[in-house]
Amino acid sequence: KEELNIIQGALELRTKTVEDVLTPLTDCFMLASDVVLDFNTMSEIMQSGYTRIPVFENDRSNIVGILFVKDLAFVDPDDCTPLKTITQFYKHPLHCVFNDTKLDAMLEEFKKGKSHLAIVQRVNNEGEGDPFYEVMGIVTLEDVIEEIIKSE
Ligand code: ATP
Ligand code: ATP
Repeated sequence: KEELNIIQGALELRTKTVEDVLTPLTDCFMLASDVVLDFNTMSEIMQSGYTRIPVFENDRSNIVGILFVKDLAFVDPDDCTPLKTITQFYKHPLHCVFNDTKLDAMLEEFKKGKSHLAIVQRVNNEGEGDPFYEVMGIVTLEDVIEEIIKSE
């Protein structure tokens, strides 16, 4: 039965999309690009428990970079280093995908890419104005694997 669930999950990768499994932007732990890495901010980061933290400028939907917790290895909270100093030093590439990306394609991307987190965006053409790209949330390798091994 367990094996059947896994096979079922694997088969569903072809039909399910990243939108089905993403973590919504409102639930994402993120950092504003202008924060200072003092003791409080660094504690918050550690307490969040996340390894990859999107960095936004002005608005949470404007993700401009990503911080890996291991980037903080040489950061001394007493120095109050601006986060920008760190993100500009490491410059981890941002990986964006569209909301209708199928999970099997996403899995392949995660397998060949270096990053295991992608920003999910969609085209918003609901309003009066021109269509625009809207960030919906984030998806990680874990979210895809979860679809395979979840048992119901
Ligand atoms: P790792 O397991 O590689 O240390 P992690 O525990 O930080 O990384 P993942 O295992 O990749 O995160 O993902 C676990 C869940 O947390 C997934 O549902 C993912 O979407 C979500 N997630 C990952 N990063 C964040 C974040 N910064 N804020 C909110 N949710 C996140
Ligand atoms: P992350 O991707 O979450 O940053 P990581 O790159 O340190 O973590 P994993 O992605 O979990 O490590 O594992 C990648 C490969 O490296 C796996 O084959 C794992 O067994 C191996 N590995 C992990 N930690 C070590 C270690 N300390 N020494 C040698 N091999 C390791």
